Amino acid sequence: MSKSIQQVLEQDSLTKENIIQLLKSAGEDEKALFAKSSEIKLNYIGKNVHFRGLVEFSNICKKDCLYCGIRAGNKNVDRYDIADQEILKAAKFAYDNNYGSVVLQSGERSDKEFVDRIENLLKEIKILSNNELGITISLGEQTKETYQRWFNAGAHRYLLRIESSNRELYEKIHPKNDNHAHATRLKCLKDLQDIGYQTGTGVMIGIPFQTYEDLANDLLFMKEFDIDMVGMGPFIEHDETPLYEYRDQLMSLNDRFRLTLKMIAVLRILMKDINIASATALQAIDPLGREKALRIGANIIMPNITPTNERANYLLYQNKPCIDEGADDCTNCMEARINMADGVIGYGEWGDSRHYANRRKNS
Ligand code: SAM
Ligand code: SF4
Repeated sequence: MSKSIQQVLEQDSLTKENIIQLLKSAGEDEKALFAKSSEIKLNYIGKNVHFRGLVEFSNICKKDCLYCGIRAGNKNVDRYDIADQEILKAAKFAYDNNYGSVVLQSGERSDKEFVDRIENLLKEIKILSNNELGITISLGEQTKETYQRWFNAGAHRYLLRIESSNRELYEKIHPKNDNHAHATRLKCLKDLQDIGYQTGTGVMIGIPFQTYEDLANDLLFMKEFDIDMVGMGPFIEHDETPLYEYRDQLMSLNDRFRLTLKMIAVLRILMKDINIASATALQAIDPLGREKALRIGANIIMPNITPTNERANYLLYQNKPCIDEGADDCTNCMEARINMADGVIGYGEWGDSRHYANRRKNS
């Protein structure tokens, strides 16, 4: 006989079957799950929410992930690459407005010019902020040497989503070639961790062919890998990508949204002291999506500070929110939203993953 959700939530650890049961919960059971994860979040993390000012500085990408609107094969995208001075201006905005941290994200490139340029930008951001801004980067798969150079230049957190811990599923949502190998992704995550980055990963929720068991395994993978930070969001189809063909097989957007919240809640129960980001894609489905995620377990939010004129071209999926707001509008809107979710913004703080500190202490 299967246990009640209450019994499962009282256990010290969760099995894969328990996790699947929690991910499938609805009604009162779902409420009990969210109550438990909120309580854990308040006990371990508190009400603080930390900002990461997000600069999506280029949509030029050499890869062809089958789900992504800015994949190299999509010839309908206007490609852009924001000038260094504009990126630095955005970082200065984050510094002047006490954001504490920035995230630099783009399509994947690994040519020498790109690697040198990022190294230089990282150093410049450190200089313009008197070493005070924390820097996360999310620039895809690179050699260990490149990761090390960027770490030495000042980046200390890296986000590289595993997309799926199931190799077979990973292969279904990527082209079959060396440029898109699951083994490389795993090696990259390991390299990042070995170098000393706060290492972040994540998955999309509701991709074609994905099962509850896959998602439970993804959460167990994050725990097993001892990951420091996670960003997970609903998959949102884009009509200029190959996976669009499977749109009829997807669960409804609302179900993807609810499942994402449940994934965040279960992850908070499994990994009490990590940083969990409230993904922008949540807001594309529900205007209050990110606030709901903060209430039930997330503690990081990434206001978009990309110069407004380029935002509309970084369309990973359709209906992306906030593509026509300036960075100032974004800050004011965020503050109101976080207050609404009963959170307190940790202005001027890095808001590092406590898990990272604990992991380093114990190693
Ligand atoms: N190019 C880098 C990389 O792939 O790691 C960083 C940028 S990439 C656009 C960031 C994340 O966007 C990916 O890891 C993927 O999970 C997410 N993404 C891409 N297409 C998406 C879609 N259609 N719906 C939701 N998320 C998507
Ligand atoms: Fe490029 Fe990242 Fe999109 Fe893949 S997910 S196509 S690497 S931007």
